[in-house]
Amino acid sequence: MTKCRPIVIISACLLGQTVRYDGKSKAANLLPLINQGIALVPVCPECAGGLPTPRAPCEIDPHADASKVLEGSCCIRNSLGEDCTEQYCRGAELCLDIAKHCHASLALLKDKSPACGTTLVHSGQFDGTLKAGRGIVAELFERHGIKLFNEQQIEQLLKEIKKS
Ligand code: SF4
Repeated sequence: MTKCRPIVIISACLLGQTVRYDGKSKAANLLPLINQGIALVPVCPECAGGLPTPRAPCEIDPHADASKVLEGSCCIRNSLGEDCTEQYCRGAELCLDIAKHCHASLALLKDKSPACGTTLVHSGQFDGTLKAGRGIVAELFERHGIKLFNEQQIEQLLKEIKKS
């Protein structure tokens, strides 16, 4: 029987798409994945939710986390103080729809992002400090059983794919 080609949802900026808040990308070396024939499906939850590029950077409220944002008890705001919670939650749901449509169970996401962060996010003080936590789409993916990896964990992702 032919083995299915593994599918991984990936943050679009890691694939070189200029979708970041500053209008740039954050291209990672994805050759180890491409050489293994892994299908990479790009998503940008911030853009999917309707935020423009470029845009003011956003951070989850201090003392809050992605779980509370998804539950509606806290906000994610931009550096101008505008509430962007609706766009983040909508974007995350749309990316989850894409992941489900592709039957993807793995995601390679850009760490430190308020949407895609898998281990770290900014503190909410807009002072460059970081704290442990996940971004909004990473939290939603985790809740739906999608395994999370970030750009520092490409080797671990490859090992996971080889196991399955
Ligand atoms: Fe990259 Fe995710 Fe930020 Fe979009 S939301 S620019 S994919 S880190």
